Amino acid sequence: MEKSDFIRDIIKEDIRTGRYGGKVHTRFPPEPNGYLHIGHAKSICLNFGIAQEFGGLCNLRFDDTNPIKEQAEYVEAIKRDIRWLGFDWGDREYYASDYFDKLYGFAVQLIRDGKAYVDDLSAEEIKEYRGTLTKPGKESPYRNRSIEENLRLFEKMRQGKFPDGSRVLRAKIDMASGNLNMRDPVMYRILHAPHHRTQDKWCIYPMYDFAHGQSDSIEGITHSICTLEFEDHRPLYDWFLEQLKIHHPRQIEFARLNLTYTVLSKRILLKLVEEGYVRGWDDPRMPTISGLRRRGYTPEAIRNFCERIGVAKSNTVVDIGLLEHCLREDLNKRAPRRMAVLRPLKLIIDNYPADRVEELEAVNNPEDPGMGTRRVPFSRILYIERDDFREIPPKKYFRLAPGREVRLKHAYIIKCVNFIKDQKSGEILEVHCTYDPETKSGEKKAGKKVKGTLHWVSAKYAIDAEVRLYEHLFSKPDPMDTEPGKDFRSNLNPHSLEVLKNCKLEPGLKDAKVGDRYQFLRLGYFCVDPDSTPEHLVFNRIETLKDTWAKIEKSQKGGSP
Ligand code: ATP
Ligand code: MG
Repeated sequence: MEKSDFIRDIIKEDIRTGRYGGKVHTRFPPEPNGYLHIGHAKSICLNFGIAQEFGGLCNLRFDDTNPIKEQAEYVEAIKRDIRWLGFDWGDREYYASDYFDKLYGFAVQLIRDGKAYVDDLSAEEIKEYRGTLTKPGKESPYRNRSIEENLRLFEKMRQGKFPDGSRVLRAKIDMASGNLNMRDPVMYRILHAPHHRTQDKWCIYPMYDFAHGQSDSIEGITHSICTLEFEDHRPLYDWFLEQLKIHHPRQIEFARLNLTYTVLSKRILLKLVEEGYVRGWDDPRMPTISGLRRRGYTPEAIRNFCERIGVAKSNTVVDIGLLEHCLREDLNKRAPRRMAVLRPLKLIIDNYPADRVEELEAVNNPEDPGMGTRRVPFSRILYIERDDFREIPPKKYFRLAPGREVRLKHAYIIKCVNFIKDQKSGEILEVHCTYDPETKSGEKKAGKKVKGTLHWVSAKYAIDAEVRLYEHLFSKPDPMDTEPGKDFRSNLNPHSLEVLKNCKLEPGLKDAKVGDRYQFLRLGYFCVDPDSTPEHLVFNRIETLKDTWAKIEKSQKGGSP
């Protein structure tokens, strides 16, 4: 199905009218000052997706104009994440820093044309002179320097003759403009700091607003797609391109992705990492691409999510349940089923011979018969979930309780005949049952029906594992909604990580490799964590099976006329 939205409509129209000769050339322009997050995935899918659909190209360009916050580590991580998402920029890997010479030339051109000047006001004074939305700005006393003096001073700035912050280069536009971005914005600042690519070559750096549009122009970008906060910067970008008389891309703004229970700001994500609230950028609770990957998310689920949210012109907040739904939808079809017990309780089948082992057949995925079957050992002593037994069952509890019957998945119907309890602590130590040999799964002899089916593993053959369970990193739908005087830290969810060290898995899982994904029956989707070794298996729970979004969708469909 052909995709349609306001951005694609604009592009189709540009192709029809022959603007840019019918060409489509987009770019994804990250600043290498942190790892990519799910919001960036939206932009990546959009830019690379549009290029693919219209037979065009998409560049990867690092907007690396701020050496203080940027690092080569981030460049590598960004490339890894884009590739993993399934996109390819070919040999078009560019850097704004590659254009520093050209940008310097553009600045000199503007000075020569009387459109830029060196200002000696301090940063504070510039801010003060700038005015506000209701108060016009005031012109700097240095605004009317001669072209010759400006050229000489700018050259000296480049040569390192002045300390940081002592002077800037500003565009000479209009201090009374209703758009604050047009009130003589700063183009260059002095910064004696090495750059991760140009090292010590420069001690002046272009501002993002002076670099971004011109970089797009240099690359011959036709459609420069960016987020809404740049709408007010567009007149400035247009102004620069017009003054410089160079190729003029069309800028189109769309609403950035916001997600419930999630922060999508690199600045705050960096704080979470630096202050140790998470283990790193790839902590499975992080909304980063690397965090989602480590947790077990698939590129397919993320791409599908980005497609379903679409693009719009106004800011909204997307329910994180939709992202989780996309993961479940993908893995439901693809992930093999296995049995695992997270909080083991010993279950003994009194009438099952102690020396007997049966290899029972279990289907790998009922959604896909092509995935075949496997054998699971069954024996007298098993583990079931602690939660699956109650001494005094509440209403509608269809699991095991004294005198009750349940089916063991792929095995037999059992009946609880006794249990042993630690009298001091009240902890249930073991549950005793009998089994009915006539009720073996698959052999439909006994048509007896029971209400509950439990998963289990054989105590003798089970393998041990550590399993990490996750909840949302923040406990509020809007993590920035805090009490007065508090910040996002006060909304961190203290239960976002739970580590279970004593889990029991069916034996076939011993060969599970890092990144392998499974559905553990009744428990959710799980993925082998990079911390895992053959001696010490570690799984992450990606998501539980409870699909809140599917429910919302269903009620919406049912409720609308
Ligand atoms: P952050 O606010 O997280 O630091 P940023 O916009 O500063 O993000 P960039 O590296 O400049 O990060 O972003 C690269 C591209 O990704 C930009 O074109 C930006 O518009 C886009 N982008 C960033 N965040 C989102 C988001 N939440 N939704 C959609 N696109 C986004
Ligand atoms: Mg940015």
